[in-house]
Amino acid sequence: MKSAIDRIPRTIYGIGASPGIIIGRLRLLGRRKGQRHVHAHLDLIRIGAEAARFRAAVDRAEAQLRTARQQFAEQLAGYTAIIDSHLLMLRDRMIFDRTLAAIEQQGIDAEWALEKALNETRVAFAAIDDSYLRARVHDVEQVVERIFRQLDDQGEVEGAGTGEKVVLVARDFAPEEILRMQTGQVLGFVTEQGGATSHSAIVARSLGITSVVGAAEITQVAATGDLIVVDGGTGLLHLHPTQDQLDYYREYQQQYQRYSEEVAAYTHLAAETIDGLAVRVEANIGKAEEAALAVEYGAGGIGLCRSEYCYLDRATVPDEEELFDLYRELLVRLSPFPVTIRTLDAGGDKFPASLRWASEMNPALGLRAIRFSLREPAIFIAQLRALFRAGVYGRLRIMFPMITSLCEVRRIKALIDSVQADLRREGVPFAEQVPVGIMIEVPSAVSVADVLAREVDFFSIGTNDLIQYALAIDRGNEQVAHMYEPLHPAVLRMIRQVVEAGHAAGIPVAMCGEMAGDLAVLPVLLGLGLDELSMHPYAIPYVKRMIRQSTAEESERLAAEVLACSSTQEVHDCLNRCLPARYPEEFGQRGLRQLKGSCCSVVMNGVSPPAADGGRC
Ligand code: PEP
Ligand code: MG
Repeated sequence: MKSAIDRIPRTIYGIGASPGIIIGRLRLLGRRKGQRHVHAHLDLIRIGAEAARFRAAVDRAEAQLRTARQQFAEQLAGYTAIIDSHLLMLRDRMIFDRTLAAIEQQGIDAEWALEKALNETRVAFAAIDDSYLRARVHDVEQVVERIFRQLDDQGEVEGAGTGEKVVLVARDFAPEEILRMQTGQVLGFVTEQGGATSHSAIVARSLGITSVVGAAEITQVAATGDLIVVDGGTGLLHLHPTQDQLDYYREYQQQYQRYSEEVAAYTHLAAETIDGLAVRVEANIGKAEEAALAVEYGAGGIGLCRSEYCYLDRATVPDEEELFDLYRELLVRLSPFPVTIRTLDAGGDKFPASLRWASEMNPALGLRAIRFSLREPAIFIAQLRALFRAGVYGRLRIMFPMITSLCEVRRIKALIDSVQADLRREGVPFAEQVPVGIMIEVPSAVSVADVLAREVDFFSIGTNDLIQYALAIDRGNEQVAHMYEPLHPAVLRMIRQVVEAGHAAGIPVAMCGEMAGDLAVLPVLLGLGLDELSMHPYAIPYVKRMIRQSTAEESERLAAEVLACSSTQEVHDCLNRCLPARYPEEFGQRGLRQLKGSCCSVVMNGVSPPAADGGRC
């Protein structure tokens, strides 16, 4: 029974994984973070029944996985290997035999025995040298969580059985569980773990299931039956919302519904302002499977393919042939649209288990991205060879991450020359003329953008990192997240400098950080002269609609006005003055707020949801 104090309105900041507004009761699945089961010793007479209860729970978990594998064979194409490994782990000695042995020999209940088996397994995994195998403990935890849910008799994600649709909350959901939510009494879901690019977030977006991931502590503060508001765009959660918040979100929900339906009509229209300025609107993708989503949402190409995703979740580095097949398929699938593939951006916060990494004090400033590729030429050359070979099959552009100096660009170009010379000598077909560009995401690259622009075919501004490095704000650190300011005058000036340098050298300038899909910044970006904007596919119709309602002339005036501001607050004030009247659907009083969570601090005045606890937005 919850006390009144437990029902104090609380705002939790997660990561918007798939947009939409939900107001509903939640259902907590599985164990809370840190929750300890009340341990019970069994009477001798109950031991047999307890062992049978455990076996039955594993049987049900297994049946659940097998059904999902058959039912969603097509949608789960990229995940069947994970399901298969989970099926094996369910019956593995480490968990299955150990748990049964503990029940039968120590006379303890199934939950306690399972907890013990998991802890012992964790210890064994921690001692493994191989970093890939060590990381597999996460899979074991997922499998054990699945058995726990079955023991609790709450194994099904389809619904609570009360007829009322619910918001599911858990530490994490497997992709196939999210697929099953479609057919159940589920409004959406919230997880404690994961990020915008975790498997669960990607599957949720592709199915359009409103969701928030990475909501720290949610399983500790929420209980089944609690009322919750979920904003899948900004990642905001209101637990025990106030009446003001409920009124606000009910109205917002209706508006959102109407607006989203209207926006869909813009999906395949050209991204062109009223006075004829054309902007390329493209998609960011991680895996080749997301290409279909990009086309469905009207992308005019791929502005950023984060190639590191195919190096993650595997024991070995993909070889040239595997990469070639992958890139070729992507290029063919997207043809005649251009596809920008960024070379491996490992390190920082992405450590493919297949690559050996020394631990670093400051990984974001360490052996990351192009620095790693130049340090490990064999891996880099295999990727370059695969890229140039695949380039024959479509409109490839190659992009290099985290460039800081001319010297790096020259080293890359020398490598490209030697890779092409080798392919030529070997008689292997490859694309000779592939546009080669660099990401501008470090302040030093901004400073020498004029120099770099003479060496490459295009720039793409990676604002996620540029903001991190320019403002010295760790993009993954919750403690300083409120200081992560896309509209800081320093950031805006840097963008202007890069665009001017690119255009002076006659090359296009794109933006592929989260900022590119942020409606609250879009008019400024148009005014600053960005040629291409690349974003999550879902944002594309919204961005296109807004572009088609804008004029280049007005946008330039707005950009000049914000560039004259001396503080972030002044920039916010300026946008608050200008945007609601000009774009009433998006920003009017009680209008829609931006769709993305990353630039949350830019929520407009009079449009922000009422804060119950002086929250960040
Ligand atoms: C960026 O930094 O803006 C970017 C697009 O790259 P990533 O988010 O993959 O670091
Ligand atoms: Mg980056």
